[in-house]
Amino acid sequence: MRKIFHFDSPTEPYIADAAVLCCFDARISQAVRKFLREQGIERPDMIIVAGGAKTLASPRNDFEQDFILEQVRMSIHLHQTKRVLVMSHSDCATYGGLAHFNGDRAAEAEHHRQELHRAAELLVAKFPDISVEPYFVKFDGVWKVLPDMAARIEAAMRSRKSANV
Ligand SMILES: [Zn+2]
Repeated sequence: MRKIFHFDSPTEPYIADAAVLCCFDARISQAVRKFLREQGIERPDMIIVAGGAKTLASPRNDFEQDFILEQVRMSIHLHQTKRVLVMSHSDCATYGGLAHFNGDRAAEAEHHRQELHRAAELLVAKFPDISVEPYFVKFDGVWKVLPDMAARIEAAMRSRKSANV
């Protein structure tokens, strides 16, 4: 081997501040990087793949979903990750872009909200001790996906039912 570039990287082992699943689309990478820093996430285990959250919510095949779950598992196992950020973004080519929604940004956002919920639910089911945070990255910034209203009502009804027992 011949050295062609010099850069001093930190050598000490680390605990990951979070695992971050997001799309490889270069247009959003800077927003994601800045958002992570703003969140105090200095050492993320980045899982960067086409579609980001789509690989869990609507995988093209079982291999894709298993591979991503294994990456999260490795981050937890190797770097004691306690937090997983799962992201998708506007105009993502793996969804056919904004054109797939006929340019309707609200329809696109709603579709992604459901996708992100599905991805988050899968992660929570697989890794119950981990905090899972779904985010939608738009061209004006990062949007937090709020808990599903239907799921909240259902949870409230469940707790009311158990209180009655
Ligand atoms: Zn994308």
